[in-house]
Amino acid sequence: MAKPLTGRCFCGAVKYQLTAKPMFVNCCHCTDCQRQTSSAFAINGVIEERHVKLVKGKPVAISMKTDSGHPHDIYRCGECQTALWSDYGRRKAIRFVRVATLDNPLPPQAHIFTRSKLPWVTLPKGVPVFKVYYNMEKLWPAASLKRRAALGV
Ligand SMILES: [Zn+2]
Ligand SMILES: [Zn+2]
Repeated sequence: MAKPLTGRCFCGAVKYQLTAKPMFVNCCHCTDCQRQTSSAFAINGVIEERHVKLVKGKPVAISMKTDSGHPHDIYRCGECQTALWSDYGRRKAIRFVRVATLDNPLPPQAHIFTRSKLPWVTLPKGVPVFKVYYNMEKLWPAASLKRRAALGV
């Protein structure tokens, strides 16, 4: 790997490194992400938990209710409360890393839930856009699908 994928919270109490590139990076415009980030969208890198290495400190999990009934745990720095990653449905093996906390944030590979996209956000050409979600088999690279399947989640 060329550049180490290092990241941290705002205050620096929690530092981490991704030991692989995320399988896929989604930019989510759903209303939950908007409210939880108090912003226009969340950018999530989907990655195996074992590839998220804590370098310093340890984030705390805050549990969110979801429509599906499966809890959504957001891992935040206990000091500055920056959200670092999520565990949707307590699947443990898979993390949704907030890639904007990386020192070199990765660009999204798809825009999802654009049905609730804020009207003043203009999306770039060349990145697929979905009103809700997409068919993973069709969009994800084969190598990423293989990694995802190996997790069995
Ligand atoms: Zn912090
Ligand atoms: Zn969302």
